[in-house]
Amino acid sequence: MPDRTRATNERIVAELEHAAPLTRRELATRLALPVTTVTSAVERLLLDGTLREHTDEPGRTPGRGRPPRHLALAARQLVAVVVVGHRTLEAAVVTLDGVIETRAVRPFDPRAADDVVGPGVALLRQALDGSGLDPEEIGGAVLALPRPYRAGAGSPWPARSTIRDPAAPPPAWLATDPAPALADALGVPAVAENDANLAALGEVARGAATGLDDVVYVDLVPGFGAGVVAGGALVHGRLGFAGELGHVQVDEHGPLCVCGNRGCLIRVATVQHVIEQLRPTYPASLTFEDVVGLAEAEDPDVHRVLADLGRTLAPILATVCLVLDPQAIVVDGALGAGSRAVVAGIRERIERALPRRVFEELRLVPGTLADQAELVGAAALASSTRLLRAPRRGGADESAAVAGSVPA
Ligand SMILES: [Zn+2]
Repeated sequence: MPDRTRATNERIVAELEHAAPLTRRELATRLALPVTTVTSAVERLLLDGTLREHTDEPGRTPGRGRPPRHLALAARQLVAVVVVGHRTLEAAVVTLDGVIETRAVRPFDPRAADDVVGPGVALLRQALDGSGLDPEEIGGAVLALPRPYRAGAGSPWPARSTIRDPAAPPPAWLATDPAPALADALGVPAVAENDANLAALGEVARGAATGLDDVVYVDLVPGFGAGVVAGGALVHGRLGFAGELGHVQVDEHGPLCVCGNRGCLIRVATVQHVIEQLRPTYPASLTFEDVVGLAEAEDPDVHRVLADLGRTLAPILATVCLVLDPQAIVVDGALGAGSRAVVAGIRERIERALPRRVFEELRLVPGTLADQAELVGAAALASSTRLLRAPRRGGADESAAVAGSVPA
């Protein structure tokens, strides 16, 4: 969405927050904008469920021309988000503008699980308990998956689990699209999306790349991957593999990867690998949280290892820059000061691998949303795809519910 359009939408919503109801003409006067600009913005905001309009006017004498149509904000709608991590399951409820209302996390091994929806919904109920939120306000749901994902098909991953008996069938949630089951369980429209793609949307909607249309988001935790936004839309590719940069082959004779390829970069570009590199000189109990803390304390050895990680990733990101010519590369902010060290390593190496002009105009920054990027992105996805069921209260007609599909 162009900056000006976004700014107009935000001004209209802000005005209606304290002065509703207003007509289109009243809005235009208050905002000092042309009526045509306000009218077209209002049509978009009505369509995506942000606004509602009504013509009822108590005491008005019928038959005196067309009654004015008053605009107000639609009832607040909430988005339920289930994030399937590599070692955790998270459930949260967020507002359409990305504010996290409640959140719960528990350990979870997706490779050993037959189902992600049932446990996700149970955790969501747990998060809602005692939160004071009204479940009726949940208008849609988003499922974040730690795998490439294609709507309608699920994950194009090999039919194998690394933990189970190799002869056993793969976890069902890997082989089919789990979004319809989530929609059935919650009674609201639902979509699924790859986690790095959601984080990319989050940083574009409300983070380090706000307002940009061509952005590469680099995931660092737990391993290297990317989400690509081109021309304002997520890029999925044919199978959902677009941006799976952790599976770039760096050793053709290397160990077999979970993706079926050999010698994938993800074997050496993970936080776990960083921890292992530090272990000889740090306590054996060193954890991810310790690394983040040491990076925050400007520990030179931790910064060096993280900058080296950035240098390892840089040549691949340089190639990506020449394929996509993005405005920005946003690096996962979940490592705090450590993310800045990774960015420094990328910058140093990528400068030597790119045409000068491309490097000079590239915005290379850490993300600002840290571990909230996926949740904020889920809200942005729900909002931009008109995922949400029309509000049950607040005057809108429920029969007008729209469950838009996710754009390719
Ligand atoms: Zn791989």
